[in-house]
Amino acid sequence: MPYPEVFMQELKARSEISDVVSGYVTLKRRGKNLIGLCPFHNEKTPSFNVNPAGGYFHCFGCGVGGDVITFIEMIENLDYPEAVALLAQRAGLNVPDDEHVDNSYAELKNRVREINRETARFYHRVLFSPEGKRGLDYFASRGLSLATIRHFGLGFSPDSSSYQLVNHLREMKFSDSDMIAANVANKSRNGNTYDRFRGRVMFPIIDISGNVVAFGGRALGDEKPKYINTSDTPVYKKSRGLFAMNFAKNTSSGRLILAEGYMDVISLHAAGFTEAIASLGTALTQEQAGIISRYAKEVVICYDSDEAGRKAAQRAIPILRATGINVRVMNVPGNKDPDEFLKSGPDAAAKFRALVEGSGNDVEYRLKSIRDGYDTGTADGAVRYLTEACTVLAGIENDIERNVYAGKLSEELNVDKSAILHQTEKVRTQLRRSVRKKNEQEQRRDLTGLNDTVNREKRLNVRAANAEENIIRYLFRNPDGLKIVESRLTPEMFVTDFNRTVYEFIINRLKTGEAVTVGDMSGHFTHEEISAVVRILSREMAQVSDDDILSSIDILSGGGYNASADEIRGFSTDDFASYFKALRNRKK
Ligand code: ZN
Repeated sequence: MPYPEVFMQELKARSEISDVVSGYVTLKRRGKNLIGLCPFHNEKTPSFNVNPAGGYFHCFGCGVGGDVITFIEMIENLDYPEAVALLAQRAGLNVPDDEHVDNSYAELKNRVREINRETARFYHRVLFSPEGKRGLDYFASRGLSLATIRHFGLGFSPDSSSYQLVNHLREMKFSDSDMIAANVANKSRNGNTYDRFRGRVMFPIIDISGNVVAFGGRALGDEKPKYINTSDTPVYKKSRGLFAMNFAKNTSSGRLILAEGYMDVISLHAAGFTEAIASLGTALTQEQAGIISRYAKEVVICYDSDEAGRKAAQRAIPILRATGINVRVMNVPGNKDPDEFLKSGPDAAAKFRALVEGSGNDVEYRLKSIRDGYDTGTADGAVRYLTEACTVLAGIENDIERNVYAGKLSEELNVDKSAILHQTEKVRTQLRRSVRKKNEQEQRRDLTGLNDTVNREKRLNVRAANAEENIIRYLFRNPDGLKIVESRLTPEMFVTDFNRTVYEFIINRLKTGEAVTVGDMSGHFTHEEISAVVRILSREMAQVSDDDILSSIDILSGGGYNASADEIRGFSTDDFASYFKALRNRKK
């Protein structure tokens, strides 16, 4: 037991899963569940479920699931002790010291953070040495002042030998394996550790707690690739990285400006726009959007005005919007990027400010982009425009807002507003239907065990495994049923090892007189294993009746019954409702 039971119970009691998840995901009530857009994969329609009574979450889209601690581990990119610490802080509890807590990963993270800090200092020093002159000249040519260079801690990675940083870090007593873990060094085929970044201007990436967590390195000549960035490390996840967020998080306006690159952001800050940030070299991810939404109520997308920039903005809009914040898009005139524009004259900053203030919202922006592609003067063009516009409207969750835009379109094209709303509703129904279908397909796959990577024995023992899962689900929901089940079913009768382990865990737990929840599993099972149990618990189609339980016990006490996956794949959706009945009859 990694933490005292009393502490864990108190922590869980004070960390209601729907409260905690609401801090990251906008949730709506649906039946006994709360649903929202999954923060762990990109989606337009919600398949992320939170079950407050059961204390777990589950996504039908990507299959993740777990308790409140698992959620924090995943969304904050923390390990188990760190997630416990964060929740304890939130709940106003002190984490008890325990020598049995495994700290080795936390210690590695600390060393990686130290290596990053020392590396940033090293690159910064090199920038002001003769070897860094090329880098300093580059920054000067881009109009950066000394103060700006120091503010962002910019640097230069030397290229006169391949081992300068590595040698420096070795002198500081860091091990080669930790340098490689920090991704500032690589290992060559013959086993030498060498500098990962060479001959590049360096942009340190700093997290919101002020730690250097990663680097971006830009080539000065024509070398490819133009940018090299830190890959995922124990302290950094690329899909969560936001450049300059450490400064921008303090913005008082509640608004962030999302730009494309390092230099755009640096120029914006130098011109007084300290609310500017950039996603790093990749398309904006849902995780980045989630972080942005925690610090701002509104984001202004300010990408390049070229084709690539416009496409990137189109992709970013729905992802940001899904987090519930206001999204606006600004066009920098004259096909300039923000960096160029800000250097275009003495009053450029003031003009830019006006552009930020005057930028349109995302729905208007998207409608305009669609309209630009069609000649709405022709009947054909108008129909195509309207059809695509209805798809945009269908994505708006707010009824009033949808109504307002339908009204605008109706005036613009002189089409009946109710016809527009009707078409929009049709698209919404289609969207909902496709989500339901996706969920059903997932549950069917789940029942056949074909893609089960946790319980690998399931696909070969489908019938027994489903009976086992029936029992697991039953005991989670009906702890009083322990007596009946236990008296007839020993763990040895379980056919698959994984389900047996879960069963043993449940009965040991229930015997102490306590209820069993998903939350009790963390610390004893891995994320993947907890996800697997949550999948079992959230299966909707086959409801467990007392009859089903008795027949499940029969199946297992009779030595299990091996059915092939093909047998189950032949079932229709309706068949699944009577799934266990079908199995029972076959046995007779
Ligand atoms: Zn998901």
